Amino acid sequence: MPLAPTDSEVWFLTGSQALYGEDTLAQVAAQSRQICETIAADTAAGPSVRIVWKPVLTEADAIRRMCLDAEADDRCIGLIAWMHTFSPAKMWITGLASLRKPLLHLHTQANRRLPWSTIDMDFMNLNQAAHGDREFGHIQSRIGVTRKTVTGHVSSADVAHRIAAWTRAAVGRAEFARLRLARFGDNMRDVAVTEGDKVEAQFRFGMSVNTHGVNELVAAVDAVDDSAVAELTEEYADRYTLAPELLPGKERHASLRYAARIEAGLRGFLTDGGFTAFTTNFEDLGGLRQLPGLAVQRLMADGYGFGGEGDWKTSALLRATKAMAYGLPGGTSFMEDYTYDLAPDSGLVLGAHMLEVCPSLAAATPSCEIHPLSIGGREDPVRLVFDAAPAPGVVVGLADMGSRFRLVANRIDVVGPPEPLPLLPVARAVWRPEPDLRTSTEAWLTAGAPHHTVLTTALGREEFEDLADMLAVELAFIDADTTVRRFAQELRWNQAYHRLADAL
Ligand code: MN
Repeated sequence: MPLAPTDSEVWFLTGSQALYGEDTLAQVAAQSRQICETIAADTAAGPSVRIVWKPVLTEADAIRRMCLDAEADDRCIGLIAWMHTFSPAKMWITGLASLRKPLLHLHTQANRRLPWSTIDMDFMNLNQAAHGDREFGHIQSRIGVTRKTVTGHVSSADVAHRIAAWTRAAVGRAEFARLRLARFGDNMRDVAVTEGDKVEAQFRFGMSVNTHGVNELVAAVDAVDDSAVAELTEEYADRYTLAPELLPGKERHASLRYAARIEAGLRGFLTDGGFTAFTTNFEDLGGLRQLPGLAVQRLMADGYGFGGEGDWKTSALLRATKAMAYGLPGGTSFMEDYTYDLAPDSGLVLGAHMLEVCPSLAAATPSCEIHPLSIGGREDPVRLVFDAAPAPGVVVGLADMGSRFRLVANRIDVVGPPEPLPLLPVARAVWRPEPDLRTSTEAWLTAGAPHHTVLTTALGREEFEDLADMLAVELAFIDADTTVRRFAQELRWNQAYHRLADAL
């Protein structure tokens, strides 16, 4: 069963004032409903979010109450505010000051084109967001409200896209806030970048990250019913191209059955505990006979976050990204930059992992295979092998810089491998980073960004920018416009900004 984001709401608020009289306010309400319905009719934000219209706000106490209600309501993941007419902004101070949920300031008008030959003062008064939204922008800047500002008529594709990107980011933020992550074992010994401050992570992102002894998982795996194992192995045969040695009656079929047992046990453990993300560590497998490969791949495909070697930060980021991407074409996976094609006419990254790449990226039916694993010292693990489908995408990494978190992202193009890879026994993605391999990697390394990432071909730059703003976390973005010099300067400015912002 795919792990959908929790059903949620974005509230649509409209500002005005009593000065205009009842008739005008009735028109304001009708127009605001229409704008809200246009936004709600756009499905790009995904099936989990409903845009909910709220009555026009004309006084301070109602505004304060609305903001408090939004904060208190778990369904509400963000607010869109539009000052249809002039809504004196001192009325908004107390409300906005109590608001911590994401805010999008929509700067629009009910009317798209001005009726030049018939325009009169009534029309002017009824279409003065140009005035009201400036007042609203002022008070937000004055009291330091983080928000996204979007200008344009709601019928335009650009406005719809930008609202949808923000809404998806709000889904990601909400998913972080309710995220429960199970770590089976600690981080891989001696690795720096997968470490992090879990207390700060809970404060900043809301996620709770806790360790479970791997033998709790082993007990769950051992307790799996044989019928569940049989059902899963049949499903594997239906969905993947099984290597002949894994087929029933063949020499490695028992390994496939054990992989199914791991999946059923792990899935049950996560479901029972309300976990939506997890980590494993090949150094700490307790009584597990195989490193979980196939199970992890299939759980990721269902929407679970995962990080290898105890990497809980990437696991959480993957779950949030999966929630943001819900319902969109394209795939999203745990990824690791593995090796390069450094030839001057190439400049490609080959990304993979020991086993755990999500089949949502697969270009064709994955093949289910068994091969030795040179590390870990366990039985040969079963895994899905495939090439990632070509598509534009983004890789995103989350690092703990000691005093704060830093997100680094790179626009990439997943391309097919230039040649077949018949001897590589793991799933993989080959991509060309923007603007080129040299600039991308020099910038990435300068930022101290990790080797584990989330790779997605379902989302773009804007969703991650909006998410970073909502979380008040730095995002350094590498794309076609990046130069290393400028990027390094940006990191320095960001460093100063975040130290100052935290001190305020
Ligand atoms: Mn790794």
